[in-house]
Amino acid sequence: KETASIAILPGDGIGPEVMNEAVLLLQEIEDYDRTFSCEMNEFPWNSAYYLEHGRMMPADGLAQLRSFDAILFGAMGDSSVPDEVTVWDFIMPIRKQFQQYINFRPVKKLEGIRSPLAESEDVDFVIIRENAEGEYSNSGGRLYDHTNEAMAIQNTIMTEKGIRRAADFAFQYAKEHGLPVTSATKSNAVIHSMKFWDEVVQKTAEAFPEIALEKIYVDALAAYFVQRPQSFGVVLASNLFGDILSDLGSALVGGLGISPSGNLNPSGDYPSMFEPVHGSAPDIAGQGIANPIAQIWSAALMLDHLGRKDLHDMVVTAIEKTLAEGYRTKDLGGEHSTKEMGEAIRANVRKQLQEVAV
Ligand code: NAD
Ligand code: MN
Repeated sequence: KETASIAILPGDGIGPEVMNEAVLLLQEIEDYDRTFSCEMNEFPWNSAYYLEHGRMMPADGLAQLRSFDAILFGAMGDSSVPDEVTVWDFIMPIRKQFQQYINFRPVKKLEGIRSPLAESEDVDFVIIRENAEGEYSNSGGRLYDHTNEAMAIQNTIMTEKGIRRAADFAFQYAKEHGLPVTSATKSNAVIHSMKFWDEVVQKTAEAFPEIALEKIYVDALAAYFVQRPQSFGVVLASNLFGDILSDLGSALVGGLGISPSGNLNPSGDYPSMFEPVHGSAPDIAGQGIANPIAQIWSAALMLDHLGRKDLHDMVVTAIEKTLAEGYRTKDLGGEHSTKEMGEAIRANVRKQLQEVAV
C-alpha cells in the first residue's frame, strides 16, 4: 500500500469549518480501509497569514506544495484583504505553476437534493473547462480612442496546444465513460477565437471516431441545460463559457453548498488541486452552519484522481444516504450543523467500509 501525500489548505471563513469535516473523513477511511493510507500536511496560508507576513505564502510556498500527490483546498477571501491579492497571489499561481489546465466539474443530481427543474432525475454530466488561457488573459487594458473617449480592450488568447490538450482530455474522459461530447461555441458570430476553437476541437475529434460530438452555440446551450440536461455527457468549454455554464450547472443540481471541482494537471507532472466551487462565505462564517458536502465531494474527486474510484463512489453514496436520512444544512432548508452533517456522512462511509471488510 502506497501512502498518498496530501497538502491541506483550509483558507478563510467557512474554509476551515468544512475542511475539518473532509479531513476527519479521510482519517476515517484510513482507519477502516487497510488498503488506503494518506499523510496530510496542513498549511496556514490565508488572509490572516497575509496580514501578518505581507504575503499569501512563503517565498518557497509553491516549492513546498510541489512535492505532494494532491492538494485539497477550502476557500479564500476575507474583507481585510483585497480579493485581488487572494486570487492573484495565491489561487492563480498554484493553477499556473502546476499547469492545472483542466477545471473539472461534475453536474450530478444527487438523490435527496431538490432541483429547480421540473424533471431533474438522471442529470449526470461533467463540465470540462479550459482553465489556463482563453478569455481570461491579461492582454488588453484601459485606453482612449481617437476622440479621447475612454475604452477598454480585452484580448482572448487561444493556442492550438491549449485547446487541443483540453479537448483531448474531454474526449479521453468521454471514451473511458462511454459518453458523448458537447463543445460550447460561438462561431456563428465574428469571433475569430471560437472559429479556431471549433477547428481544433474538430481535429482532436478525428482521433476519437467512436465518440459523438455536437457543437452548440453557448447561448442555446444555456437554454438546453435547463430544457434537456439529461442529454449531456461531457461538456467541453473555453475558460469564460465554462465559468458561466458551471454556475448554471451547479444551480440545477443543488447549488454552492454541494458543488465540487478539480483543477487538474492531467500529465501528473504536478499536483492537482481539489476545491469546492463556493467561496469563504463570510456571511455565515463562524456559525458552524456551512454545508460540508462540496468540500467532502471535492475530497472524493481527489480520491478518484489518486486512483481510488471505489472510495470516490463510496463517499458519494454516503452523501446520498445521509441526505436520504433527512440531514439538511441551512442552505438546503434544514437545521443540521456542519459537524452533524459531516459526522453523518462519516457514519455512512464507515458502514460501507465495514461491509467491504466482512
Ligand atoms: P461565496 O461562495 O463565499 O458565498 C455565496 C453565497 O453562498 C453566500 O450567501 C454563502 O453563505 C453561500 N454559501 C457558500 N458556500 C456555502 C456552504 N458551503 N454552505 C452554505 N452556504 C454557502 O461567494 P461570495 O460571497 O461571492 O464570496 C465571498 C468570498 O469568497 C470573497 O472574498 C470571494 O473572493 C471569495 N471566493 C473565493 C473562491 C475560492 O476560494 N476559490 C471562490 C469564490 C469566492
Ligand atoms: Mn465562477
